[in-house]
Amino acid sequence: MIIAIDGPAAAGKGTLARAIADKFSFAYLDTGSLYRAVAHAVLLAGAEPTDEAVAIKAAQNLDVAQIDPVAIRTPDVAAAASVVAAMVPVRAAILQFQRKFAQTPPNNAKGAVLDGRDIGTVVCPEADAKLFVSARAEIRAHRRWLELKGSGSELSEAQVLADVSERDRRDQERAHSPLKPAQDAYLLDTSDLSIETAFEQALTFIEGSKG
Ligand code: C5P
Repeated sequence: MIIAIDGPAAAGKGTLARAIADKFSFAYLDTGSLYRAVAHAVLLAGAEPTDEAVAIKAAQNLDVAQIDPVAIRTPDVAAAASVVAAMVPVRAAILQFQRKFAQTPPNNAKGAVLDGRDIGTVVCPEADAKLFVSARAEIRAHRRWLELKGSGSELSEAQVLADVSERDRRDQERAHSPLKPAQDAYLLDTSDLSIETAFEQALTFIEGSKG
C-alpha cells in the first residue's frame, strides 16, 4: 500500500506521515529531505542555489545514507531547497529513488508513506490513499517559528511567515511538478485541529481507501 501526503511547508505533513507509518508499520520517506540535501550540498560547495550545474551534479550524486538530518533543517537550506526543486533535472534525478522506495519499501515493509509536494500527482499517481494536508499560512508559520525557536533560532515570527509564504509561492508557481492537490486527494485542513484529531481523520480516510 502506498500513502501519499502532500501539502505546503509546515502544515504538519511530517508528523502525520510518521504517525501513519508507525500505525501500519510502513516505511516512511520524507521527500523534502532529498531536496534539502541537494540544496545543502550546493551551499556547502559555496555555490548559489540558482547554479543549475552544481545543483544537478549534487542531485545525481546524492547519497541518501549521508544526509545530515540536523544541517538540512535550517531556514537557509529550506529556501535553497525550493530553488533547486524547480529544476527539472534535479527532480528527475530524485524521482527514481522515490518510486523505488514506494514500490519496494525497505525492511520488507508492507507499505510506504511518502510526504512531499508532488507525491500524489507525479511520484506515485497510483497511490492507494492521497492526502493533501494544509493549514492557514499564519498558523503554519507560528508552528514553524516555535520549532525553530526551540532549536535556538532568533528569527521573528514575521520573518518565518515571510519565508514560508515565499517558499509556498515558489513551490506552487513552478512549471514542473508544482504543489497542488491530486484530483482524488482527501483535503485535510489542520488549522483548527489537534494532532490527534488530524491523525484520526487521516486514518478514517485511509481505512476507507484500503482495497
Ligand atoms: O517538505 P520540506 O519543507 O522539507 O521541503 C523542502 C522543499 O523541497 C520544498 O519547499 C519544495 O520546494 C521541495 N520539495 C519538492 N517536492 C517534494 C518535496 C519537497 O519540490 N516532493
